Order: sequence, then C-alpha cells, then structure tokens
Amino acid sequence: MKHNYIAGEWVEGGPAAENINPSDTRDVIGLYARASQAQALDAVAAAHAALPKWAASTPQQRADVLDAVGSEIAARKAELADLLAREEGKALTDAAGEVMRAAQIFKFFAGEALRIPGELLASTRPGMSVEITREPVGVVSIITPWNFPIAIPAWKIAPALAYGNTVVFKPAELVPGSAWVLAEILSRAGLPAGAFNLVMGRGRDIGDTLLGDPRVAAVTFTGSEATGRKVAAACVTRPGAMAKFQLEMGGKNPLVVLDDADLDVAVNCAINGAYFSTGQRCTASSRLVVSAGIHDRFVDAMLAKLATLKVGDARRAGTVIGPVVDAQQLEQDLRYVAIGRDEGATLAFGGQALESIDGQPGYYLQPALFTGTSSDMRINREEIFGPVASVIRVHDADEALAVANDTEFGLSAGVCTTSLKMAARFKRELQAGMVMINAPTAGVDAHVPFGGRKGSSHGPREQGRYAAEFYTSVKTTYLQP
Ligand code: NAD
Repeated sequence: MKHNYIAGEWVEGGPAAENINPSDTRDVIGLYARASQAQALDAVAAAHAALPKWAASTPQQRADVLDAVGSEIAARKAELADLLAREEGKALTDAAGEVMRAAQIFKFFAGEALRIPGELLASTRPGMSVEITREPVGVVSIITPWNFPIAIPAWKIAPALAYGNTVVFKPAELVPGSAWVLAEILSRAGLPAGAFNLVMGRGRDIGDTLLGDPRVAAVTFTGSEATGRKVAAACVTRPGAMAKFQLEMGGKNPLVVLDDADLDVAVNCAINGAYFSTGQRCTASSRLVVSAGIHDRFVDAMLAKLATLKVGDARRAGTVIGPVVDAQQLEQDLRYVAIGRDEGATLAFGGQALESIDGQPGYYLQPALFTGTSSDMRINREEIFGPVASVIRVHDADEALAVANDTEFGLSAGVCTTSLKMAARFKRELQAGMVMINAPTAGVDAHVPFGGRKGSSHGPREQGRYAAEFYTSVKTTYLQP
C-alpha cells in the first residue's frame, strides 16, 4: 500500500482505496491510503512548522530542488507516462506529453526562483524611497482534479515552492498513482521535512482542514465549478483571517470555423480539441461554431475523420481515444448524449458505450458529434467533460462571435480563419482567458499564463511569471534614510 507523506515521513494508517485502470477494470494498479482528518491536521501543522526554514532558503537552494525534480520526471518519462495512461486513461502519447510538461514546469520555476523581482521607486515625498518586494504567502493547500494527474499538481507545487511557500497537496482520489510518484520524487529532492506534504483521499473527508485551518494561508484549486464554489465559501467563512484563494474550473469552449478557414486545419483543430484526451480537458472544444458557407463540408470531413479514430486501451499502440475515466463520468457522458437527442439535436456520429474492447472490460465511449444544435440547448451550456461535441451553424462572423460568447464560461476560445482582419477581430472580442487562432482550444505552453474569465476562473492566473501574483504577498516599504 502507498502511504501519505507528512512531515518528511511516509505515514501508515487510514483506509486503502483501489486505483483502477479504466482501460481494463480487472486491473488494480495499487492500493493507496486515504488520509484521515487527523493526518490532514498533521500535514498542515508540518507545513506550518517548516515555513520559516523554507521561506528563508536561498534562491539557489530552491532552484536546485525544483531542477532536480524536473530532471527526474523527464528521465522517467516512459514509466510515468505509462502509469498516467493506466490510471487516467488518456492515450500514451498524450500522457507522455503531459509528463514532459510537468518536467518543464519544474525547470521553468527553478529558473523563476532565481529571479524573484522587486521594484524600487522614488516616493512622492522628498527624500523618501519606496521598495516593493515579494514574500511567500505561507502554507498553501493544493487541491487538484483527475484529468491532468501530473501536470496540474506540477503547475501548482512548483511555483508554491519556488516562491518560498510550504505545501499540503491533495490529489484527486481517482488518480493517486501519479501524485504519489511525484511526492516520492519531491521527498528525495532536498526539501526540509514538512515543506511538502501529500495527503491522498476524498475532499469531503479532509477538505474542511485543508480549507479551514487558520494556518493555511492560501488555497489553489482546480476542479468543477460546484466544488470551486464550496472551496471559495469555506475560504471566506472560516473563523479568523480568510484564506487567499484561486479557482480554475470548468469550460464550454467554442471553436469558431469561418467560411474562409482552411478546411484541413479546422478539422484537425476540432478533432484534437474536442476528442483528444477523451475530451476530458477543461479547454476541450465542446462547441463547434461553424458558418454556413463551410458548414456542410466541415461536417462531412469531421465524420470521415471521426470514423478513423481508434478507441481502445490507453496504452496500446495506435489508440487515439482512451476510455472515459470511470463509471460515473461515463454515465454523465451518456446522460448528456440522451439529453441532446431529447432536445432535438442530431447525433451524427458515435455516442455509444462499448462494454469491452479486445476482451477488456473498460469505460469506452465512441466519440460523439451532434449537428443541428442551438446555443440554448443544455448540451451547449453545461460542461459534459467527455468526448462529446456539437456543431452550431451560424450565418456569419457576427453571429459566430455572439454564439461563441454566449456562455457562462470563458476559459479558452478558438477561431479558424485565413483572414488577418477576422483573426484580429476575434482575438479582441472573444471573451476568454486564452484565444487560439488556427490552433486547437486545448494544448498550451508551459511558460505563459493559463486561466479564464467569467465562470471558468477566479483569482490570479496560473503559470508563467504571472504565477507570482498568487504565490507571493507584496510588501511596500517606505524608507526615509
Ligand atoms: P471535482 O471538483 O470533483 O474535484 C476536484 C478536487 O476537489 C478533487 O481533488 C476533490 O477531491 C476535491 N474536493 C471535492 N470536494 C471537496 C471539498 N468539499 N473540499 C475540498 N476539496 C474537495 O473535479 P474533478 O471531477 O476532479 O475534475 C473535473 C473538473 O475539473 C471539470 O469541471 C474541469 O473543467 C475542471 N478542470 C479545470 C481546469 C482549469 O484549469 N480550468 C483544468 C482541469 C480540470
């Protein structure tokens, strides 16, 4: 059984949970401990006790730790990608890309630790100067979802440590394997005991401690909107000082295809954005907003391409679409397929569950494409989080923009066009944190800000240099010599 890591020790105790392979539900990857409330408290106490030492560490010490972690992740790419694909179900090539991204994020923040900036300004008062410096925030609780089992933990843990904070990390209960290996790597990287702690298990069991303990200064959360609201409420209603918090939540991302688009580019963007990683990406293109002049050609080309996508075991060569992560998510995807039909949309492709492939029982779903949909349908308003996309036909660019922005979410939005003028207009007017021009809505660089607007995000951006906004506290010092 794999244990939790608290105060520099692997701590026994707590009930065990099975980690199941969604490509073959007979395959139990391992047993992982579920932390108790008392263990979560111990983890917070350990992070709090370690804070003075890690906050006082030199930039070089921090850089060395993060660099070592990044190097080891990269060196173990094949093994970690295999584990990730086995527990989460994304195809091995996608999993390998995610592992390398985690490595690159640790390397990036190793560099950032060496260049934590400040400012020195002349004061408006004679003889005075004003200095602006950044300090660690304190103990950071990190709560992550299951769909990026190593990259999302990396993009929270690396900046937290780079800026001198200590960490209590709670991964999603469906994917403890990648989190545990990451913790094991961190446990050997030269951190003082307690600077990094792993508590696996369910949010409802230990969430109160991770959010409500007054020693937790900040909470960074990625997950569903419903849980995000609970996290926010707990951070502001707890006794004493409120916790600083950052939320990355759902998406209902549009990919607009204009009449002048290159058809191959548009279809590749849509297939990749809507279906790769089994559509289980917050940045997935679930709404394909297509103008009338290219609509029929686009739909025909999508159907032809969909027929070639191989659904199967995530780790088998040739698989493009792995299984859905678990029975509950599969049930949700199928429910939305039924909802779309009831709403009058045409199920033009897929949408059927396959109980087994090559004799392996798993949570397989044929990728689904709806046509003849409208913006007010539930399938175009609510996040499905599976390999299900819909085409919304529009007359022109004006209507495309209106439909693209007709959502409570605002994470990523894309446009396929060969017109510079249209590209510039959509860049300006799309209401999203990230805009992709002739590129899939999903798939981002590791060194630039990530995050959304409207209902998708709350608080400062993650990643890149902008991560400093969340993981540091700014101090303004007035100095009269
Ligand atoms: P989820 O909200 O069910 O769970 C996310 C995490 O919150 C898990 O670790 C869970 O254990 C924990 N949690 C649950 N209840 C809690 C509580 N009461 N207190 C504290 N923690 C609690 O989300 P999920 O199903 O794991 O992930 C899918 C969702 O994540 C989708 O909505 C997706 O869009 C979103 N997501 C967003 C981004 C982004 O950056 N915007 C990235 C990836 C995924």
